[in-house]
Amino acid sequence: SANVAQGDKPKGRLVVLTGPAGVGKGTVENAMRKKHPGVWLSVSATTRKPRPGEVNGVNYWFLTDQEFSAKENKGEFLETALVHGLARYGTPLKPVQEHLAEGVPTLLEIDLQGARRIKERAAELGVDVVYVFIAPPSFDELVRRLKGRGTESEAEVNKRLETAKVELAAENEFDVTIVNDNVDRAADELWSVIAREYGL
Ligand code: 5GP
Repeated sequence: SANVAQGDKPKGRLVVLTGPAGVGKGTVENAMRKKHPGVWLSVSATTRKPRPGEVNGVNYWFLTDQEFSAKENKGEFLETALVHGLARYGTPLKPVQEHLAEGVPTLLEIDLQGARRIKERAAELGVDVVYVFIAPPSFDELVRRLKGRGTESEAEVNKRLETAKVELAAENEFDVTIVNDNVDRAADELWSVIAREYGL
């Protein structure tokens, strides 16, 4: 196109996977990457405690509040959000930029606040973004999943449910909705969005 000829080509393409808490974003994303290991998933930083089995640098970068703030102040995050009022999460900017520069299919799995923040910054960063909203088959199913995880206290689960109710209404802000009724099917649908976006 004329834009490309003029050198205005976006610096990269990014797929942002978002949706309510407990909707299974991570499960869908994991199933997709098992089949398509060429997709790179950004490793977020968080101030929450690791769950059993979670590994620093693999699932998250587990930081103290002080460490998180220091990085935030240095502009090292693409976006940050306080999730459920409980812990801070952030996407480290540099690894995202590096993967985008290499043209590697790049995926962020973040909450709605973070997705909205990226919408505000996408033009400034010169990235093309496709936003994918993962929806539960129903609200009852979401409740069941949030309770079934069994790793959070009742207060934490209730907090997450409150957030989820509001977040379900955000579907129309995003480009594509994938209903997580079946993980394999949803994973295939996510891959088809990525394949289309990257011309794979
Ligand atoms: P969890 O604590 O269950 O791993 O994640 C809680 C929520 O935080 C999920 O909705 C997850 O998508 C979101 N999240 C994880 N990493 C990030 C991040 O870097 N930025 C934002 N904004 N949300 C994140």
